Amino acid sequence: MIQSEKMRVYIGVGSNLNDPVAQVKTALAALGALPETSSVQHSSLYRSAPLTLDAAVMQPDYINAVAALDTRLGSIQLLAELQALERCQGRTRGAQRWGARTLDLDLLLYADRQDKSEELTVPHPRLHERSFVLYPLFEIAPDLHVPGQGSVRDLAAHCRIHDTLSCSPLCMTSS
Ligand code: ATP
Ligand code: CA
Ligand code: CA
Repeated sequence: MIQSEKMRVYIGVGSNLNDPVAQVKTALAALGALPETSSVQHSSLYRSAPLTLDAAVMQPDYINAVAALDTRLGSIQLLAELQALERCQGRTRGAQRWGARTLDLDLLLYADRQDKSEELTVPHPRLHERSFVLYPLFEIAPDLHVPGQGSVRDLAAHCRIHDTLSCSPLCMTSS
């Protein structure tokens, strides 16, 4: 559904396969080119240790960023566009949860909406505990309120220490 007014949304971008820096840069450009959508800002690129369910399975580090967009796409339509971009950049879904991937696009926030369905939960249900999301989000929107959670500033400050240590900015300016 196309809406008459644009909504501010935040997208988490992550990659740890096939030149992750290039994958993230390509995705940031593609997000700005989505229909009914304009790019507002994106963070620098960050490097973080992978989340894994099985410590014995080695994975490369992730490159992460967060993008702010203004869009007339409804939340479900936007999620479908994000999944199409993932497929375009070679994302495959294996049996392993949190397996390595060329591109992961998470809808972190859709305006101040709180929705929960099997297909889509916003705010993203694990956003508040992830430094690789909170740090880039803090860079571009420190005073943003996360419905049901508090400010990005407070969430980033109280993020778990081992996460904090594993997430550091790369030298890339935002635009
Ligand atoms: P995590 O959600 O913990 O970051 P993940 O990104 O690896 O894990 P995926 O395999 O990419 O998980 O997505 C699994 C499902 O999550 C998707 O099929 C999608 O329908 C659903 N989903 C629910 N809420 C969201 C959201 N806010 N953003 C993206 N996908 C979501
Ligand atoms: Ca994810
Ligand atoms: Ca995802």
